[in-house]
Amino acid sequence: MKIQRKPQPRPLLLVNIGQLLTLRPASFNPGPRRGADLKELSIIHDGAVLSVGGKIVSVGTSEDALRDPWFRKNRRKVVEINCAGKVVLPGFVDSHTHPVFVGPRLVDFEKRIEGASYEEIANAGGGIRSSLAGVRKAGKAALSHKVLATLRDMAAYGTTTVEAKSGYGLTVESELKSLEAISAAASLWPGTVVATLLGAHVVPKEFQGCSQKYVETVCTEMIPRVAKRKLAQFVDVFCDKGAFTAEETKQVFEAAKAHGLSVRAHMGQLSETPLASFLKFEPASFDHMDHVNADDVSLLAKHDTVATLVPGANYFLGLRQYPNARHLIDSGVPVALATDYNPGTSPTISMPMAMSLACTHMKMLPAEAVAAATINGAWSLHLADRKGSIEPGKDADFAIFGVSDYREIPYWFGVNHCVATILSGEVASRD
Ligand SMILES: [Zn+2]
Repeated sequence: MKIQRKPQPRPLLLVNIGQLLTLRPASFNPGPRRGADLKELSIIHDGAVLSVGGKIVSVGTSEDALRDPWFRKNRRKVVEINCAGKVVLPGFVDSHTHPVFVGPRLVDFEKRIEGASYEEIANAGGGIRSSLAGVRKAGKAALSHKVLATLRDMAAYGTTTVEAKSGYGLTVESELKSLEAISAAASLWPGTVVATLLGAHVVPKEFQGCSQKYVETVCTEMIPRVAKRKLAQFVDVFCDKGAFTAEETKQVFEAAKAHGLSVRAHMGQLSETPLASFLKFEPASFDHMDHVNADDVSLLAKHDTVATLVPGANYFLGLRQYPNARHLIDSGVPVALATDYNPGTSPTISMPMAMSLACTHMKMLPAEAVAAATINGAWSLHLADRKGSIEPGKDADFAIFGVSDYREIPYWFGVNHCVATILSGEVASRD
């Protein structure tokens, strides 16, 4: 995919869109989409969308767009894309990725095929800790080059906003280096990147047996330095057995909040942790959520914390169990979908693949998967005012799919039907 960089994108009209999935709210309910609202896509048939300066200015039918007086007067200045009946939707918001690593984890892959569990692999020196050496050794330029290549690949699959975590360095220097690499890559990519400090990913070997000391390093060194240099908007913690306890998670949340950073957490992937005591920190998102009790589901239904489901991890780990998306959605919990792109448990950059798994293994309807992959991802990144739906005033972030019905996006699994992606008004196409 070639990205054409221009300082100020020309006005852009997408016209003759077979299905334009605007995701304009269909109800007056504020906040992230929940319950029945999750499947309301507000589709315009034979639609058109005009953007100027990277922002959407009008959304409607092709007929209205071509009659628009401004458009008729300025037609020569406008880049016009005839979508010829294809589907256009908001660019995907991949709200959970770990792109700062050096190589794949092929030994873990084979061990798992031979029957080893997540924890057995970690105990044998594989898992997250085996990615540390490469990142600690790598230069910032090499890491940022890898991140940029990943962002471009993601755009080729329709993603325009990416949350990118550090977390494979786990020293103050290498976590800062990872975030600097994300920032350098983001400055060369026309899409939007939200950086997250995941210093509390696992306890590194040097601190084994004294996790409290490592948590102090995260709280008193990493977080203040990251906040001061504005290298991240969020702080994440892997709260689970084998990683960090609920108490340690709260210490990290406390430090993050004290330094003006928002929080999110990996929660309930391997075991259940009661959630009530975290809510005072207003976490933007709890991610994974394979294990969650009924009381906490009712509690989350009353909060704006998004449950971010990452079925790619369940798929790649060969698990039979997936998060109970139906129960979450039907109970009113706002649900988002993300890839969890990482070298150990979910090496995919494809949001359409995550959506397909959501449909087949978590019984989400294609419409619910679309909203979870766009507007609710935006909510989980505090970007819902700019991203996740096609409405005037929002960023011109679109994905064009070479299909005639949006349900084909999760249906044709493992095939990339995204033909072009618009990132803040800039066109990146595959031809
Ligand atoms: Zn993750």
